[in-house]
Amino acid sequence: MDSARSTGSEGMNNMVKQPFACGECNMILPDPEKKSDPPQCNYCPSAPVTTDWQGFVVIMHPDRSEVAKRLQIDRPGSYALKVNIR
Ligand SMILES: [Zn+2]
Repeated sequence: MDSARSTGSEGMNNMVKQPFACGECNMILPDPEKKSDPPQCNYCPSAPVTTDWQGFVVIMHPDRSEVAKRLQIDRPGSYALKVNIR
């Protein structure tokens, strides 16, 4: 019973929601449990979050990564290269 989803697309396009990213440390934030609430960064509780970001990078070893140095990242995780905070 999956008829509601078969509207012609492959299911790749419009259902994909951009995750939020932290405006302070650029970390990509997991979806909140309550979908109505925007997520909050664990490390920067007062930082703004936004879905307006570009570039996805996974930092495994911040101490060995040039990208991590550029972004001033010191924790492993998924990050946005550029976060547009208004
Ligand atoms: Zn943060």
